[in-house]
Amino acid sequence: MRYLSTRGQSPALPFCDILLGGLAPDGGLYLPEAYPRVSRAELDAWRSLSYSDLAFVLLSRYIDDIPADDLRALLDKTYCAKTYAFVRSGSDATEITPLRWLEKDRLGLLELSNGPTLAFKDMAMQLLGNLFEYVLEGRGETMNILGATSGDTGSAAEYALRSKHNVKVFMLSPCGKMSAFQRAQMYSLTDANIFNIAVTGMFDAAQDVVKAVAGDTGFKARYRIGAVNSINWARVLAQIVYYFKGYFAATKNNDQRVAFCVPSGNFGNICAGHIARQMGLPIGRLILATNENDVLDEFFRTGVYRPRSAVETHVTSSPSMDISKASNFERFIFDLVDRNPAVVRELWAKVEAGESFDLSGTPYIERLSGFAFVSGKSAHTDRLDTIRRVFADYGVMIDPHTADGLKVAQDHLERDMPVLALETAQPAKFGDILFDALGREPERPPALAGLENLPQKVDVLAADADAIKAYIAQHP
Ligand SMILES: *Cc1c(COP(=O)(O)O)cnc(C)c1O
Repeated sequence: MRYLSTRGQSPALPFCDILLGGLAPDGGLYLPEAYPRVSRAELDAWRSLSYSDLAFVLLSRYIDDIPADDLRALLDKTYCAKTYAFVRSGSDATEITPLRWLEKDRLGLLELSNGPTLAFKDMAMQLLGNLFEYVLEGRGETMNILGATSGDTGSAAEYALRSKHNVKVFMLSPCGKMSAFQRAQMYSLTDANIFNIAVTGMFDAAQDVVKAVAGDTGFKARYRIGAVNSINWARVLAQIVYYFKGYFAATKNNDQRVAFCVPSGNFGNICAGHIARQMGLPIGRLILATNENDVLDEFFRTGVYRPRSAVETHVTSSPSMDISKASNFERFIFDLVDRNPAVVRELWAKVEAGESFDLSGTPYIERLSGFAFVSGKSAHTDRLDTIRRVFADYGVMIDPHTADGLKVAQDHLERDMPVLALETAQPAKFGDILFDALGREPERPPALAGLENLPQKVDVLAADADAIKAYIAQHP
């Protein structure tokens, strides 16, 4: 299997060659040259597989440059109960992604946030950590991962890469802008290969510094700077697995269709759902939920994609969905325009110039209905109402992102197709908002009791590219 760029002007490469990079050299995103189709007989045979075995049959279709035994070992090591059974009481500790019905056969929560950082990003990031270590080891190379985080992504990356060989993590976070829990989660890691750097200013300032450092090609090559951001293909790939797992858990046979509702920001999670559907999984609907930052909801309703400026981007109570543009969306548009890279280049020339594009009135908008997307939006009061209602009706606490998803899921319930709402974080991560909604704090998994009291390791630096470069150079 080879991987192509959505812009069509970079050479096609095998999996391990695109694993460690970010964007393709032509500025596009990598996608497989074709999505492998899954037969009915395969679906029947895969129904009863464990998570790790299911991951193997799916991922081995996409990865042919890692020997099968090694891939299997990496997946067994990643998808084990020790890592993902970090569960709250009530969940089934043997399942990696348990399905919890709120209304039997009608509305379910697919739990994706039982990993070490209590957010669904662990599902893919833990695999990425093991893949990076394996490939770097095999090539005798080292890498310095540089990133900026406002919360979930950075901590998921650190927990995935802590104590891994041949890789160091330099993670910038905005000084004093994260919750006490989020700070403790990251800064309490004492592994020698993890460097937490709090920079003065907002998240944008941290992100600009990362871009400036990675944009210095001499420095980037000399210090082997890499990234683990949401456009990484392996992250999207790993996320395909739980759509299959969730489908099997919700159905008795492969004649049934299931809808998935996905709280979305950068379009990474739901992109995996789109690919699972293209592979032949009977997904009847992909329901995309946004918060107040509704750039994607607007597209699916109107055909207009209008990335927002920084000042137009709302700071909300579901912060991991606060995006101005959706970095993985180009992958979907590539498929929508029948994989014509010239069209993608034309559309993204506009996006990169800060303009919008409009597909209404083009033939592409007619193709859109074939992809089974619907969308909706949830705002602060919807979020709090949904948290209250779900707790009152089902006795289940949900986090604000999952609440956005459930709000939109309930607007799209259908008669004879179950909807699985993806649970993207645990409520314990967002105690303040849960308190606002319910007047009480959510329970915390016992293993995280007293997290805030652990010693913390963090250096405070100015949001300045030269200061960060000097810091990396001093920690070779
Ligand atoms: C990252 C994140 C999202 C958004 O996922 P995308 O893949 O960016 O669409 C939603 N909820 C939570 C809790 C997240 O951390």
